[in-house]
Amino acid sequence: MTVATVIAGFGRQLLVRSDAGEQMNAVTRGRNAQVAVGDRVSIAALGSGQAVIDAVDPRRNEFKRSDAARAKRIAANVDQAGVVVAPRPPFSEELLLRVLLAARAEGIPTALIVNKCDLRDARAAIEDRVAVYRGLGHPVLECSARVDPEGTRAVLRPWLAGHDTLLLGESGMGKSTLVNCLVPDAGLRTREISEALGSGRHTTTFTRMFDLPGAEGGRIIDSPGFRSFGLGHLSESQRVHAMPEFAPLIGRCRFHNCTHRDEPDCAIRAAADEGRIVAMRYRLFVRIADGERATGPASWRR
Ligand code: GDP
Ligand code: ZN
Repeated sequence: MTVATVIAGFGRQLLVRSDAGEQMNAVTRGRNAQVAVGDRVSIAALGSGQAVIDAVDPRRNEFKRSDAARAKRIAANVDQAGVVVAPRPPFSEELLLRVLLAARAEGIPTALIVNKCDLRDARAAIEDRVAVYRGLGHPVLECSARVDPEGTRAVLRPWLAGHDTLLLGESGMGKSTLVNCLVPDAGLRTREISEALGSGRHTTTFTRMFDLPGAEGGRIIDSPGFRSFGLGHLSESQRVHAMPEFAPLIGRCRFHNCTHRDEPDCAIRAAADEGRIVAMRYRLFVRIADGERATGPASWRR
């Protein structure tokens, strides 16, 4: 029995690296066993670079995202996450909040990585939006991955050093550019992984883990860019608890089953009306709750 880490995955096709440094293709025994990048696994080597996964260690955390059909495990056992946003094209406030809720529900601390800061006017125009997240305690890291790779590394490396960091982002924000700036051979490595997975797929349709160069250590887990982000795997209560500014208000509404919309004496809506919490966040929260209801109860989609 050998202990290994899952470093890339597409469906049931996985790539693992043993603690001794050997890279192997691996499959799970059970058809439905969902293993994710970052999982620690026990494997049985079959020779010629093939292995079978016998067991998955208990996870510290698991970052998930749902689509219309089901929840998908994107990564496991991460120390922190970074969401890449940019002033142009303008990032989606709703997608950002969805990602932050998914991370917070798993207790994963998350930073905002504001890329394309060279677009100065556009960057200035989103300062109020960025400030909201800073105010909620999210580290905000500002960079310009394409035009200033050196400066970008200087800003990000201290935050990345020694940690396993999941990078997430809506398509178009510059996440691929950022990964290439942090891991100079990321393109080559991705092509190798793609070949090993036998996927021949477009290089960004699977999640993969890269070692960061340099003595500080640390790894990044790059996930495919997204255009939607379902939260069907979270209950209504989990979503409410994942809003840090709601936490002190929970239990203060008149009705214990308050949905925080039109009910009389809703403590959360009152806080938004009175400016004690950011009204934009409250409105987004309600919009997300409505969207998740429209697509069905969470129990259908697990
Ligand atoms: P991804 O979809 O998030 O992986 O985004 P890409 O890395 O493919 O980048 C999307 C577009 O943004 C490309 O045209 C990049 O050249 C551009 N881009 C990336 N980083 C920067 C940056 O720091 N400044 C500017 N102005 N454009 C950037
Ligand atoms: Zn309420």
